Amino acid sequence: MAEKPQKWRVVALRRLSDAQLAALSQVAEVTYFEDLNSSNQADFLLALSKAHALIGGKLELDEAMLEQAPQLQVVATISVGYDHLPLHALNQRGILVCNTPDVLTETTADTAFALIMAVQRRLVELANLVREGDWRAHIGIEHFGIDVHGKTLGIVGAGRIGAAIAKRGALGFGMPILYTSASSKPELEQRLGAQRRTLDELLAEADIVCLCVPYNTDTHHFIDADALARMKPTAALVNVARGKVVDESALIDALRYSKIRAAGLDVFAQEPLSADSPLSTMHNVVATPHIGSATHETRTAMAQLAVDNLLSVLTGHGSRNGVNEDTCQRVANAAKET
Ligand code: NAP
Repeated sequence: MAEKPQKWRVVALRRLSDAQLAALSQVAEVTYFEDLNSSNQADFLLALSKAHALIGGKLELDEAMLEQAPQLQVVATISVGYDHLPLHALNQRGILVCNTPDVLTETTADTAFALIMAVQRRLVELANLVREGDWRAHIGIEHFGIDVHGKTLGIVGAGRIGAAIAKRGALGFGMPILYTSASSKPELEQRLGAQRRTLDELLAEADIVCLCVPYNTDTHHFIDADALARMKPTAALVNVARGKVVDESALIDALRYSKIRAAGLDVFAQEPLSADSPLSTMHNVVATPHIGSATHETRTAMAQLAVDNLLSVLTGHGSRNGVNEDTCQRVANAAKET
């Protein structure tokens, strides 16, 4: 990173509390945008052009904006995923990116389990029968769901969130756990009896496949038509990772032609999901509007962690939760040598 400025200038985007803004204002000049829209976009870009740091959720930065922000040194995102940021360009400029892991793990695992319950027991579809006045007779076999307990849960990406979902499945619902991850997870194997599989093996064996990998070039369309074809026709897919981990048109095809039974989706290739998308109306899909971490408690904790990450840098205590620290260090060292 570049040298410490005389006075830090921070651009903050939704959503920080008054107390969080006050904490930042103790050490920096803060320009806060509660919301970004066409009427304040120019003000935002002007503030960014002078800023040393940027903090917020859903930061929509691109290379052209970075060109106009020559003093930027730190980006503190209020999210654990950072696939929305142009990491390569940030790395090239030695701009540190900090994220908010751990504080959202349990809440996102709750969301995944809510989707698992909903797709197995057809909760939304059947609750709508009642809401719409269509519950006219005892529920028959055509409305039966599928058990959750005892079914095999396949975790794709057994990191923080994947492990928390596995724990719920194994300890709460007696589910055998399969997982696939870049590295083996001996702790999950010992504590939960989880078994590591290749992705192809997991897809073939699991009754519920739950996606928890980060989105990047390696995981783009990780679940494509071939992968869906390996799943059991009775199986369900749950995605709390990122929409583009799945080839959405292949998924629509698989759901339409009963190649798999159902899907529970919190994330989509395009968000918000278009009302025209078949995923918004298919009876065997439960779609939620990217609510993985969206509880009062967790969103507050995420914003606080992002503020703490930024304050750590601004007050000279070094980076916390930096996702590209090594690259930033290399860029700083190279700059010193020239
Ligand atoms: P994490 O702890 O880094 O876990 C990611 C896991 O994916 C790790 O176990 C990693 O393996 C594995 N992995 C990475 N690339 C892989 C590949 N190519 N093949 C197989 N496994 C791979 O991250 P997390 O905190 O659990 O978060 C995971 C993702 O969830 C985030 O990146 C974000 O996109 C998403 N998320 C969504 C919501 C929501 O609102 N729906 C909320 C929070 C997070 P290793 O452990 O071996 O490295």
